[in-house]
Amino acid sequence: MDFLSIIPGVDWPALPNARGCQLLALQFQLDRSQWLPAVEIERQQARLAERLYRHAILHVPYYRATYAAAGFRPGSIRSIDDWLRLPILRRGDLQARFEDLQCRVKEHGEVSLSMTTGSSGMPTRTVGTAVTRILWHALTLRHHLWNNRDFSGKLATIRALRERDKTGRIEEREPSWGSATADILRTGPLVALDIHTSVDEQAAWLVREDPDYLLTYPSIAVELIQYMDRNGLRLPRLRELRTFGELLDPRLRELCQRNWGVPVVDGYSSQEVGYIAQQCPETEQYHVQAESVLVEVLDDEGRPCQPGATGRVVVTTLHNFAMPLIRYEIGDYAEVGDKCPCGRGLPVLRRIVGRQRNLAVLPDGRTVWPCLSDRLTSGASLSGLPPIRQYQVTQIEPDAVEVKAVAARPLTEVEEDGVRALVADAFGWPMRVELKYVERIERGPGGKFEEYRCHLAPDVVDRLQRLRKSNHERTAVLSGASQAAG
Ligand SMILES: [Zn+2]
Repeated sequence: MDFLSIIPGVDWPALPNARGCQLLALQFQLDRSQWLPAVEIERQQARLAERLYRHAILHVPYYRATYAAAGFRPGSIRSIDDWLRLPILRRGDLQARFEDLQCRVKEHGEVSLSMTTGSSGMPTRTVGTAVTRILWHALTLRHHLWNNRDFSGKLATIRALRERDKTGRIEEREPSWGSATADILRTGPLVALDIHTSVDEQAAWLVREDPDYLLTYPSIAVELIQYMDRNGLRLPRLRELRTFGELLDPRLRELCQRNWGVPVVDGYSSQEVGYIAQQCPETEQYHVQAESVLVEVLDDEGRPCQPGATGRVVVTTLHNFAMPLIRYEIGDYAEVGDKCPCGRGLPVLRRIVGRQRNLAVLPDGRTVWPCLSDRLTSGASLSGLPPIRQYQVTQIEPDAVEVKAVAARPLTEVEEDGVRALVADAFGWPMRVELKYVERIERGPGGKFEEYRCHLAPDVVDRLQRLRKSNHERTAVLSGASQAAG
């Protein structure tokens, strides 16, 4: 590796600048903390969480008011059971109470604002500090090392960019990979293209750039792989596809390996929280970045899920004292994993299952994540039907969906039956299908694409879930009675 030194002539070993030294010092610790036994990691996290709680209840108006109203005082958190009674913070609170969620005492260096536009179009703002920024970069560096990346390579990314160049196309070019490495070592260049470009532009750009690494959303990668396959385009230097920002369909891994001959490495992060979990270098599951974030996966009753169970993801940013997010329900569901065979003690999420808004609620109250990209790799998915190029499915009634389709021509009756069968299969319910032909389907505000969205009103969802719960209780009573009888 080509390390940077601030002292001319002293380059082996090299002496990086002050920030580079801080990053390497963090790296030295993160390299060790990942191997600690799970109980020790849990103990450290509980200590940090209690400290953050105490800071928040004393110095952050939102928590002072909310926690006091719920009967909490500064010394109230003494056990996991106390923690589990703490009110959940929701996205709506984050948007509506932005000012009150900020700490009145400034510490941890200069603050920076970050903003995302969610699928609802309503922005979510959060504030970070010098501490959260350097931790983000240290965790980025650890993930580079986990994957043994060649720092001299060219990194290409297709994502939402901010500034348009004169031609109207959005493109960026940097001499190095960015702040995680810039103060430590010399890297290859970083090239970026905006996500709103078309797939043929993206493919032509990639072929021209010929990168070693590609970082983008899974939906972009699927389109690119299929497009490049159809057009006989290749990326001879590519070593790894890195994905983020959307749910990763496991079939993308297979598609990528088969077409591009490289593995997919996925990350789970959010603008508000930073890194949540990163893919293990030896398995396809995810390690919670426990030195920075506490992740709880909760069942319907708010109890922690056991390995193998799926629940709501609730996160606490352990080091953000400027705008603490404590028990923030991020809107995702994940499956808890068991101890990882790689030996790391970092908690495991076996998979990220989906976002709340991508959940379907069936007429009997059951919830499912419709897997529409089913058979993605065999070409038998919705878009694989002859005339459909792109589609988006929206649940509009408990038993009905709207399918927006970009199609070369209207479907025949047989093809329409095929769509209905695929939808019924994906939902596990004979949904009514309203087919609607459109010119194009736009990506969401952040550039993310959702092939399925639930547009049921919250009161409809509540009613269906109450129905399911009462059915459940009835079944439980019946099975209890039959056991007693047996
Ligand atoms: Zn692992």
